[in-house]
Amino acid sequence: MMICGCGRAHASRRAFLCGAAALIGLPAMAQTPPASAGAAEPALIEDLVAANRILYDQGVVDGFGHVSVRHNKNPNRYLLARSMAPALVTADDIMEYDLDSVAIDPRGRTSYLERFIHGEIYKVRPDVVAVVHSHSPAVIPFANSAVKLQPMNHIAGFIGDGAPVFEIRDTAGPGSDMLIRSAALGHALAATLGNASVVLMRGHGSTVTAQSLKHVVYRAVYTEVDARMQADALRLGTPVYLNKEEAAAAKITNDGLVDRPWELWKKRAMAKTSP
Ligand code: MN
Repeated sequence: MMICGCGRAHASRRAFLCGAAALIGLPAMAQTPPASAGAAEPALIEDLVAANRILYDQGVVDGFGHVSVRHNKNPNRYLLARSMAPALVTADDIMEYDLDSVAIDPRGRTSYLERFIHGEIYKVRPDVVAVVHSHSPAVIPFANSAVKLQPMNHIAGFIGDGAPVFEIRDTAGPGSDMLIRSAALGHALAATLGNASVVLMRGHGSTVTAQSLKHVVYRAVYTEVDARMQADALRLGTPVYLNKEEAAAAKITNDGLVDRPWELWKKRAMAKTSP
């Protein structure tokens, strides 16, 4: 095996082809699709479809936003819908990616521009199994101001001692289109997330992480609810938030209770034949 200009290891013949493609200006990746982990567990695909529908039904995503999960057969692969509105996602729309966010078998399907959010977080957070990126509206004022998003009640204990905020100008400079459209930007976002569950994105939205699809959907829904409650409380005066210890204890308790809202939300969202 050797490493060629496309940064991937190949047997020697493949390296030659890859180098030749680079010389004549063809995209080298087309020569070297990453290997598939094989068919994912059907129940995981079903839950990923449900997660897309739930997030729309609960007002977290609209035409934009996406949710991913690690492949059950290989932690270096993840599953994400093709570029489309989440409420319309079916099992046939789910694609497999490697952690560089290269599609395994695109077959003409387009990918979300911001898929690097998912791959780069999976690279640095082995504990994270599912990721939601959204522009849920109540959260954005906390991304665009000095007021930190904090846990208002026990349900939002996963927010901990406040959500970090990603400033894209620090990486992309002053004239970006605000999107996480490269691995470098995804890596910078993952660094700002650190060990937190939620990272806010100035002028853009937020990204939520968890140990499963059920947990990440729960957290994405309640990040938005928490932001609405905090804005309400700020209008009344100076809120008292959960302290760090309360937030940590509540997070442990609620991590054991996510099946309850999931069953309700899934039944409701999947019963709708169209948005
Ligand atoms: Mn976005």
